[in-house]
Parts: sequence; C-alpha cells; structure tokens
Amino acid sequence: MKKVGILGAGQLGCMLAESLFKFGAEVSFYDTQPNAPGSHRTPHFTCGEWNDSNKLHSFFTSCDVVTYEFENVSISLLDTLVSQTKVPLYPSAHVLAITQNRIHEKNFLLNNSLPVCQFTPILTLDDLKKINGKGILKTATGGYDGKGQWKINNPGNIQDLLHKIGEQELNENNILPLIFEELVPIAKEVSCITARNKHGQIVCFPIFENIHKDHILYQTLLPADISPVLEQQVQEIARQATEKLEVVGLLTTEFFITVDGKIFVNEFAPRPHNSGHISHAACSISQFDMHARILLDLPIHTPVLHDKFYCMENILGDVYIKQGHTKNLNLNAWKNNPDVVDVRLYGKDKAEEKRKMGHFIAMQKTRTDVIKAAEKFKKELYESK
Ligand code: ADP
Ligand code: MG
Repeated sequence: MKKVGILGAGQLGCMLAESLFKFGAEVSFYDTQPNAPGSHRTPHFTCGEWNDSNKLHSFFTSCDVVTYEFENVSISLLDTLVSQTKVPLYPSAHVLAITQNRIHEKNFLLNNSLPVCQFTPILTLDDLKKINGKGILKTATGGYDGKGQWKINNPGNIQDLLHKIGEQELNENNILPLIFEELVPIAKEVSCITARNKHGQIVCFPIFENIHKDHILYQTLLPADISPVLEQQVQEIARQATEKLEVVGLLTTEFFITVDGKIFVNEFAPRPHNSGHISHAACSISQFDMHARILLDLPIHTPVLHDKFYCMENILGDVYIKQGHTKNLNLNAWKNNPDVVDVRLYGKDKAEEKRKMGHFIAMQKTRTDVIKAAEKFKKELYESK
C-alpha cells in the first residue's frame, strides 16, 4: 500500500485524502494545528511547526510520496528534505518556489511571454514611497483571500498605509517585499486547473468562472460564460505554464479577463483549488481524484463536463454565526432545495467570520436557474435557526 504524506490538514487535504483512500492508499497529515480537520481522518497525524526540520524529516521518511495543500513552507527546507530522504515531493519545490512568491510568479510569466499585468517589485521602503498612480499593493508571499492587500487610489494612500502599518513593523514583520500591480479593469475572473503526470501527459479541466465578494471566492459557475475562442486561449496559457514549470500534480491558474477582452494571468496555485470543488459534481473526474491518481501513478483522462449548469458556493463562518452556532450547521433548508446536489462541511473546530467552513453545489438546466437555486438555498440557510 502506498503511503502519501500531505502537508496541511485542512479541507483541501481532507478531500484529497478521500480520493486517496478510495484508491487504496494510506494517508498521513502534517499540520501545526492539533485539531485540524485531517487530524480526525487518519491515525497518521503529525502536529509540528513548518520549520521543525526533525519532525518534517521523520514525516518524509514515513511516506512514499509527499504533496501539499499549503504553500508557505520554506523552499530550502523542502529541497533539503527531498534530497536527504529521496522521497519525491509533487509538485516539486521548484514549482512552489515560483508560485509562492508573486514577484517570481510574475517574472516567470514575463520570461515565458505569458500575459501578465504591469507590476513593480517593492523591495525597500524607498521603493514604497516612490509609488504613484492607482493600483493594488500586495505582500509578495503569504497572502490569501485578499489578506495582505491594499488598494491604492492616490499617492497619499501610501502615507496612510505607512502610518497604519508603521515603517518598523513593515520591516520587523517581514511584510516587505511587496508588489505593486496596476488596477486591471476586470470584466470576468476565471480559473483553469491543469494536471500533469510524471510521464508528461497534460489534461485540462473546463474553465471555471469565479465571482468574488470581499476578495473571497463567493461562487464558481460551470460552464463559464466566455466565448469558445477565449476558452481555448485560457486553456492554452494554462497548459504552457504547466509544461514550462514541469508540474507533476495540479496547477491552478487564475485569470482576469478585461472589459476589452484581454487576458492576464493573475496567480498560480500548484494544488487543488477552491474553484475546482465544483468538479466533484460537474465533471467525469474531480480535481482531487485527478491529483490522487497522479500521486499514485494511475491513469488520468481529460475531464468531461456533464451536460448541465452548476454553481458552487462557499459556506463561510458567517452563516454558522447567523444561525447561532459556531460548530454545527442546521441543514434543514436542504429539504426544500432539491437542486442542491451536494453539501460538504469541513469539520473545522470553530466558525469565524469569513472563514471557509464548507461549500455546496447546485445543478440546473440553465445558468440563470442555477444561480437562483444557489441564492435561494443560501438565503434559507441564513434564515434557519
Ligand atoms: P489571493 O491570494 O487573496 O487570492 P489575488 O491576487 O488573487 O489574491 O487577489 C484577490 C482578488 O482581488 C482577485 O481575485 C481580484 O478580484 C482582486 N484583484 C487582485 N489583483 C488585482 C488587480 N491587479 N487588479 C484588479 N483586481 C485585482
Ligand atoms: Mg487569488
């Protein structure tokens, strides 16, 4: 039996574990939180810090292959672990080194003639003070769900920001380096998940259309409402990036499509992605099954989209709090909403505002109807006590 190690025991790791179990593999998790969702799913759970080289070394040696749901592990440590233990890490530390840093990611796009918006690396306080014009300032590493991002409308904002964060804190808390990106006039956001196995075979999921609220993914829709030409261009860019990076596993590429039809790559995630949850119900193979098959060297195929319209919507901690609970969700509303074909709750210890606690998928015959069905269920969930 193959033993697969997963760095990070949150919802992505747990859903990947389900697929791995299905194919007869054993799973062990490593996470810093003793009661992370994955800690209840397998007896093989290590609780440790991300810089604990001894614990991580033992973890690697107990596995046949290691992957991750969490991107902020030190690259030099991962390189050392792989070379010392000879246990493969998929996708490789090289892929992670590029994708975990927005500056490296954007330079990779530039160097490979892939479309990227204008950006300036901000490496010093002086660089920061020189910013002018509108844009978005982001931490180069460590941000997610809009965390570590500041919208800049005028140069005065930089003074406000320095005041808010404080010059010293910027340095001490390693908030530098930053990246300043032009404000892209976004008409649509889409993502494309590609998968590549160690034999070099690449397959592409259909394009997912993503709607964000407060910088957090709110809904994913399938099929995406974009022209076949755009769809093909997006898939081709994602495919080229996957090939150039020699990814073994999954690569999610997030895209902006502008009001005048231009395409920009926003960022990469070398792992299953929130937008890909929809594949569980909508495609012939889910993103998690795909990744599990690659880790276990089982055959893969191009995902086929079922002939319906799908909408995945995240369930944030806000719904739990509105219902008056922090641990359990009342799902009575589901009884009146048969168009909701799946609900997944992640089993996190405590609901907090904006924390991703679960998701659901609705299915209908038209795009308008599936959005309506998702909105109706969400509203009734909020109103349940
Ligand atoms: P995260 O790691 O938090 O997902 P992103 O870079 O994807 O960070 O930014 C989150 C969201 O913020 C994007 O999905 C998009 O809606 C918006 N955003 C990010 N960068 C830009 C930009 N340069 N121009 C316009 N909107 C942006
Ligand atoms: Mg993003």
